[in-house]
Amino acid sequence: MTAEIISVGTELLLGQIVDTNAAFLAQTLADLGVGVYMKVVVGDNPQRLSDALRAALARADIVILGGGLGPTKDDLTKETVADTLGVALVNNAEAEDRLRRFFRERGISVPETNLKQALAFDGGTVFQNANGTAPGVAIVKDGKAVACLPGPPHELKPMVTNQLVPWLQGILGPDHPILVSRVIRLAGIGESLAAEKVADLLDSPNPTVAPYAKTGEVHLRVTARARNRAEAEALIDPMDAEIAARLGPFILGRDAENLEDGVVARLRALGLTLAGAESCTGGLIGDRITNVPGASDVFQGVAVTYGNRAKVDILGVRPETIERVGAVSEETAREMASGARNAYHADVAYAVTGIAGPSGGSEEKPVGTVFVAVQTPSRTAAREHRFRGAREVIKRYSAQAALNLLREMLAEPLPEEAPQ
Ligand code: AMP
Ligand code: MG
Repeated sequence: MTAEIISVGTELLLGQIVDTNAAFLAQTLADLGVGVYMKVVVGDNPQRLSDALRAALARADIVILGGGLGPTKDDLTKETVADTLGVALVNNAEAEDRLRRFFRERGISVPETNLKQALAFDGGTVFQNANGTAPGVAIVKDGKAVACLPGPPHELKPMVTNQLVPWLQGILGPDHPILVSRVIRLAGIGESLAAEKVADLLDSPNPTVAPYAKTGEVHLRVTARARNRAEAEALIDPMDAEIAARLGPFILGRDAENLEDGVVARLRALGLTLAGAESCTGGLIGDRITNVPGASDVFQGVAVTYGNRAKVDILGVRPETIERVGAVSEETAREMASGARNAYHADVAYAVTGIAGPSGGSEEKPVGTVFVAVQTPSRTAAREHRFRGAREVIKRYSAQAALNLLREMLAEPLPEEAPQ
């Protein structure tokens, strides 16, 4: 079975809002094992919406529309779909009841214009709206399933999960295969090199393996098609093991697991505490670490030492170092890490210093030059990076690089040596 998604709203075409509903619907349909081959955005215009629907019905078995169920004159999705399908709109008593109650609870009578929201497809299904006034309406007509959902994401999402999905499952039947994905997240390796290492696996039909580049990460999405989740996992596990055998040292986690989760968990397992010193990232890494529940077990704090004076006064970076090689240098990064470790009495410390731009670059150290350093009880490591992109992107790459160096350093056995 295949599906198409039609998002309705002139504001989407103007770029005033982002079509997050379509992304959510696409994920939901993928999980159901329904292929989405087209997504369409159309303005609040009945003719163009009707054309889009007709085209979608010619290609797909299922068409999901989002938006345009409001009370105003430009909200015409339901009317246009009914017209195009040749289905009548009839009043739905429960929807009207809910509508009247919704307004009564707010001490106002139902505006005449809102009553059209209680209309539903004759012979169709109604998804009552627990979070707003517009119910969703759906129908199977001539072998095609069509559903219209309200635009506000906080109304659409629960309606999809609680009502659209069961409705679609009924149409798909119990033997319809589902898709299950696992994302294997890599850091410290580029997309092309990672893809090269698993080149033969990229041709696997089930599960499939597909690489994606993310900020400072490469993701390998392993997707299995099976009758249920257990069967899918049984297909994914050996592929996961094969990927781990080839790329193990670069794997930072799976699915939602991220670098900071892994770093905090590893520090906790080792019984070590962490501190940081951040210049160009302005506390971004500290923010990420403190997003991990229970980070207080290991994280002591971070010094956001943006100016040279702060690096010297707070971290004890030597003024001669800054004078000789500059604040953006490997030596300064190392001294920052060492200084943070001392200042916070921590076992491990990270440091970042770099040029996020757009100004401040030079021939020798262009914008995007970033040094990260990590000091553990047994050793110090530093790494130079040259990132490209806008200021905010360089900051995100820098945070990622520091966390990845931490991950690598903590992955190695830490001999019980006295701090140097
Ligand atoms: P509508 O149902 O078209 O009146 O949409 C009501 C509101 O829902 C819009 O003003 C947007 O804020 C939001 N909305 C509509 N469509 C989408 C969409 N595809 N993605 C995200 N938000 C949307
Ligand atoms: Mg609209």
